Amino acid sequence: MDAATLTKPAVLILLGPPGAGKGTQARLLEQKFGLVQLSTGDLLRAAVKAGTEAGLQAKAVMEAGDLVSDEIVIAILRDRLGEPDVARGVILDGFPRTTVQAEALDALLASTGQKINAAISLEVDDAAMVSRISGRYTCGDCGEGYHDTFKSPDVYGICDKCGSGNMVRRADDKAETVASRLEAYHAQTAPLIAYYGERGVLKTVDAMLAIDDVASAIQQTTAEAIA
Ligand code: ADP
Ligand code: ADP
Ligand code: ZN
Repeated sequence: MDAATLTKPAVLILLGPPGAGKGTQARLLEQKFGLVQLSTGDLLRAAVKAGTEAGLQAKAVMEAGDLVSDEIVIAILRDRLGEPDVARGVILDGFPRTTVQAEALDALLASTGQKINAAISLEVDDAAMVSRISGRYTCGDCGEGYHDTFKSPDVYGICDKCGSGNMVRRADDKAETVASRLEAYHAQTAPLIAYYGERGVLKTVDAMLAIDDVASAIQQTTAEAIA
């Protein structure tokens, strides 16, 4: 499916606990379908770095592994959705994470006549999530994700995609915050699986498989959902 043949911008949601592989799969979907990855985690980290008002409020919350307020996250997402490059369609990575956010998204899409093509739930167990988070690192220049055990660059310390040697680890990817993030996921985000199930757009994928196998499943689901 060529993105250029889309008549309406597609809206895909990747649901899943921290470390499930949402960011990894969103980047692969971007390349394959020409959609735009929209990660509220990335947008919040950019706001923290830029020292904006929202960033100042979000910093400590993120470091503690809690969820940033719906108000801040919805405002950030609404602004980003208003930018011209998202016109071809978006992959929402890490949003929505609460029922309030899901309802705000529904209202936002209704106001522009859009709908959710699919909410793809990446299913992983808690142990896998912990090992994925603890080995995660990212290219600080292009954002490509890596893992100590599961996804190493061809040359140690050098990004395959852009050649940078600037690899970074997230401040919140440490053992102390993993428990709070998991708790937040189960209490506040997991109910969205039923939310989207009731609306007939839920698809589930076994995300315990290797990256390439998860990618095949997600890409097939996506092709069907945007056809
Ligand atoms: P991960 O991919 O590991 O789940 P993210 O990059 O998506 O991490 O998010 C990092 C942190 O940013 C979260 O732990 C939370 O504090 C905050 N955050 C990101 N997206 C949201 C959201 N939709 N609602 C509330 N907080 C969010
Ligand atoms: P999320 O965005 O859901 O928090 P990421 O895409 O950042 O998750 O993946 C978390 C870590 O696990 C990264 O280091 C990534 O390279 C690795 N990873 C992603 N998918 C898989 C997989 N299917 N098997 C093993 N490791 C994976
Ligand atoms: Zn890079």
